Amino acid sequence: MTGAAAVNRPVLVLATRNRHKVEEMRALLGEFRVELVGMDAFPDASEPEETGETFADNARIKAVAAALATGCYALADDSGICIDALGGRPGVHSARWAGPGSGASEWIARTLTEMQAVPDDEERTARYVCVLALAAPDGTILGEAEGKFEGRIARAPRGAGGFGYDPIFLLPDEDRTAAELSAEEKNTRSHRAKAIQGALPLLRRALFP
Ligand code: IMP
Repeated sequence: MTGAAAVNRPVLVLATRNRHKVEEMRALLGEFRVELVGMDAFPDASEPEETGETFADNARIKAVAAALATGCYALADDSGICIDALGGRPGVHSARWAGPGSGASEWIARTLTEMQAVPDDEERTARYVCVLALAAPDGTILGEAEGKFEGRIARAPRGAGGFGYDPIFLLPDEDRTAAELSAEEKNTRSHRAKAIQGALPLLRRALFP
């Protein structure tokens, strides 16, 4: 890190190469005076395998790997969508839901196909879950925080904002999908927003003792 902007700001690595997540997290951290960098700034660091069975397991795996690879405090998120009618799937497998290398349009297509047999709105409930884990530069886990965002699975995709499953994620009591929210609106109610709120005391203690 060089330049005036980095002076006096502790570096916090966000253990992801997903630019949407870095941007969303940067907005959520707002006035919090850290220099947030994604793993794109460390092209040689290898990515750990997400072998955990829970969001917390995977967040911890990613936070420890990023801290050890960079020598910085590292915050990792693991997130996904849990659909009640599918027994909580895809859950931790959200990013691989239609096979290795699959993308949002394939995840959405598979979800809509599996949800064809679930006609009632009341039974189409789902939630995004996000767990954040913070690791110290030596790889010690300092704590975790969780956030949830409740909604329902739509019958067809709608909206051009957001990413991933957002075009089929209907907001509670609203006829809008998460992809029809502005970035600011999503940032006030998302699972990641709630998890980051929960993680702020942890970050404050670690980075501004
Ligand atoms: P991760 O990068 O391993 O945490 O995987 C997250 C998965 O859940 C990806 O498939 C994302 O598309 C999906 N996901 C997580 N948060 C969101 C969200 O806010 N909107 C849409 N999809 C999300």
